[in-house]
Amino acid sequence: MPGFEFFGDEERKEVNDVLETGILMRYGFDGPRKGIWKSIELEKEICKTFGVAHAQLTSSGTAALTTALAALNIGAGDEVIMPSFTFVASFEAVLSVGAVPVLVDVDETLTLNPQAVLNAITRKTKCVMPVHMCGSMADLDALQHICKEHHLILLEDACQSIGGTYKGKHLGTIGDAGTFSFDFVKTITCAEGGVVMTNNKDIYIKSDGYTDHGHDHLGADRGADLHPFIGYNFRISELHAAVGLAQIRKLDTFLSIQRKNYAQLKNMLQQIPEVSFRVVPDESGDSCTFLSWFLPTEELMKAFVAEMKAQNILAGNFYWYANNWHYIKQWQHLQQATTLNNLNAEQKAALLKLSAQDFSASDEVMSRCISTAISLLWTEEQIKEKGEKMVNAIKKVLSEASVGV
Ligand SMILES: *Cc1c(COP(=O)(O)O)cnc(C)c1O
Repeated sequence: MPGFEFFGDEERKEVNDVLETGILMRYGFDGPRKGIWKSIELEKEICKTFGVAHAQLTSSGTAALTTALAALNIGAGDEVIMPSFTFVASFEAVLSVGAVPVLVDVDETLTLNPQAVLNAITRKTKCVMPVHMCGSMADLDALQHICKEHHLILLEDACQSIGGTYKGKHLGTIGDAGTFSFDFVKTITCAEGGVVMTNNKDIYIKSDGYTDHGHDHLGADRGADLHPFIGYNFRISELHAAVGLAQIRKLDTFLSIQRKNYAQLKNMLQQIPEVSFRVVPDESGDSCTFLSWFLPTEELMKAFVAEMKAQNILAGNFYWYANNWHYIKQWQHLQQATTLNNLNAEQKAALLKLSAQDFSASDEVMSRCISTAISLLWTEEQIKEKGEKMVNAIKKVLSEASVGV
């Protein structure tokens, strides 16, 4: 997913525009900024590129999720259903607004299992938050149907799937609101940054105010703005937005390279009958930041990981099952409700129940899964070499298993 691989003169030019004026803040200073409004320009570009009515930039993807949740009126007493496989930011944001994260199983789409969502719905459920992990998507038809039936909000965490689509619409623009992250390792980067996207003007207006201390941004004098509600400071800076502006113009290039490199690597791996691939609800919409694939058993995948490690070629292959950032199994801090300040009682009770919850269906999927990150810089020759090494390692562990080594 790494836009940083293509950092160049275009980014430097946009940043220099801001450095020329020295106005690093997105609001105010109308005279001295000499017409340079990078954040506004990037928001317009996001609306155009992804086909969405409104975009509110934030200081991070985590801030974007927090903002979206607040703007959607999700807080104390509300439950948000989210997957057991995601980045820690998803539950951090839910906890930060006072709501309860309800973690449920993923299936071979590597995101929410719609039946698990249905099973988790209670009187307190307010929102379903699919996380479109690793460049591809959740089964949005099924989730939209559930949300409609049960009058629930659909918030898409599309932080990892910039440029992905589902049935012709961009991921992150399909639910009531959606978010991207522009942190350093995402498909396009601002160094740090994020965005809330929505087609609902009311949610946009609230997001705009929330990210800037509740300012209504209606007057010409910032100091005289009214504060219709309490907000925070989740503002992006002009320097960050400038980097993003150069990056978003390269998105089509990134996506076409990703898709080409992904196809070449997949072609090699799929020659092994024991290898299967992530279920992608709309294959044509996969942004192809990762190639996620399975071996038949946990033992075989663990042997593959060990073999790749022994050969010193594991880098770029993510075995999420044993990873501290992305899967419930390693989130002891969440399961023990280890926070610096007190959670509300409902949140604390819910978290302390997590360690007893049955995630065997997720374990069954994640223990056999690995995601290979697709680089923008690979040459065809390098992919061939990489693929051959992977194929050989897979064949080796398969043959050792069959003779019982
Ligand atoms: C990166 C990421 C975020 C948070 O983004 P930051 O900009 O790093 O705060 C949220 N959700 C997912 C799935 C992510 O991968």
